[in-house]
Amino acid sequence: MKSEEALERLHKIDREVNHLIKTAAILQWDQETYLPPRGVEDRAEQLALIEGIAHERFTTPEMGRLLTELGSDTKNPSGDEKLPPVERDFLKTLRRAYDREALLPQAFVSDAARAQGLSQAAWVEARKNNDFAAFVPHLKAMVEISRKKTEYWGFSQAAAYNALLDLYEPGLTAAEITALFTPLRDRLSPLLKKIAAQPYMDAPFLDRIFDTDQQARYNRQLMEKLGFDLRRGRLDITAHPFTTTLGFDDVRITTRYHSDNLLSSIFSTIHESGHAFYELNIDPALRGTCLAEGVSMGIHESQSRLWENVIGRSRAFWEGQLPGLKDVFPDQLSAVDSDAFYRGVNRVRPSLIRVEADEVSYSLHIILRFELEKRLFSGDLAVEDLPAVWRQSMWDFLGVEPETDAEGVLQDVHWSQGSFGYFPSYALGNLYGLQFWKKLRQDLQGRSDIPAPEAAIAQGDFSTIHAWLRDHIHQWGRRFDPADLLKQVTGETLSVTPFLEYIEAKYTELYEL
Ligand code: ZN
Repeated sequence: MKSEEALERLHKIDREVNHLIKTAAILQWDQETYLPPRGVEDRAEQLALIEGIAHERFTTPEMGRLLTELGSDTKNPSGDEKLPPVERDFLKTLRRAYDREALLPQAFVSDAARAQGLSQAAWVEARKNNDFAAFVPHLKAMVEISRKKTEYWGFSQAAAYNALLDLYEPGLTAAEITALFTPLRDRLSPLLKKIAAQPYMDAPFLDRIFDTDQQARYNRQLMEKLGFDLRRGRLDITAHPFTTTLGFDDVRITTRYHSDNLLSSIFSTIHESGHAFYELNIDPALRGTCLAEGVSMGIHESQSRLWENVIGRSRAFWEGQLPGLKDVFPDQLSAVDSDAFYRGVNRVRPSLIRVEADEVSYSLHIILRFELEKRLFSGDLAVEDLPAVWRQSMWDFLGVEPETDAEGVLQDVHWSQGSFGYFPSYALGNLYGLQFWKKLRQDLQGRSDIPAPEAAIAQGDFSTIHAWLRDHIHQWGRRFDPADLLKQVTGETLSVTPFLEYIEAKYTELYEL
């Protein structure tokens, strides 16, 4: 077969698999948003069927044959050097995924899926009852399944955790992450303790009641003001906010509304919009291919956290947006000025729960989980000992200690699903995000034809920021590995410095340290 024909055939299989994956994503989105409770049973069958067909299509022997024909193998996944660069990136992405999927025996895949379902259900119960012991056998099974998976992929026990990290952040090892997280922890932990010793910044206006229908109205306005084209997506409600891509012109986000917590919905909407902007700005030439998605979880989080924190929790942002918010909530907010609001949304307090953590504490919650995962996979830590080690680490890192496991080791869903290696992405996102932001500001500041980024944000004009992110990051989809993209955009390797400089400058000023 000529290489053009082989490529064409590969693209056809990839397109079909992609349609199947998106179809499963629609079923999943519906399950999280609108499915009536008793619809769950049939939905599970429908999802399993579609996912099974997608897996089968993707792992056909033909796929392996075509990749090999085009010169792509495990050592040289990009294939024939004479092929155009975008096709080589396409082959690289397919080969890596194919190697992972095809090496797992079918029986192992279905056993793992079943165990995962049971484990997640057991976790829900264990968290509700604060009963870690009941969850132990399931968590052990999840660790074992993950380890077994890396064995099928050909990794030794010593390399198992690296193989898992690679699923979320291609190319980054546990040793490299440790070299970043250690200085991060060594500077964030004392900063947090210094802030905690200051009087708590009170913002009583945030403790008022905010009608949830009005919040929904505001959040819809907000996403449009941020630049979300509602012809290409929508906002719905879920318990745990997320973003899902259902098609090239269909990216959906969710948020949640609590009448006693206005900020929860607003910052979830901004965060998820950040994820959506990434997916919506990928080069149309990549449409429908495996390249039309974000590079990695870490780069994805860099976008969501950039919008949520660096932009959304800035003084300039609330200079621009507070009047609109006051129009919706005049009774609660009419006496509040943008400076007080800025201070209110940046209150810092060491706390037990990761998803509620402020910008200073957040990475510490992640580093703690990373350290425990490393030890679980090196065999240095037994599952039974997790709660005690968790409490001690919380005390060392954040200066607080949970009274219950529900507020401690049982709080997150990730481990119950066997998603080991996922957590570091969140803190890596902070690092990538500030490296990108630093470069964006260097590029856009001091140009006579456009306002500086902060001035544009204060005017509610995000167009130059969108254009920069699209041209430098979003348009490429997942063509490049994270480290290569970072190098291409900033000329740098991954570093804690821009993030720490940003955090230290912002909070030293806010807390007059
Ligand atoms: Zn996110």
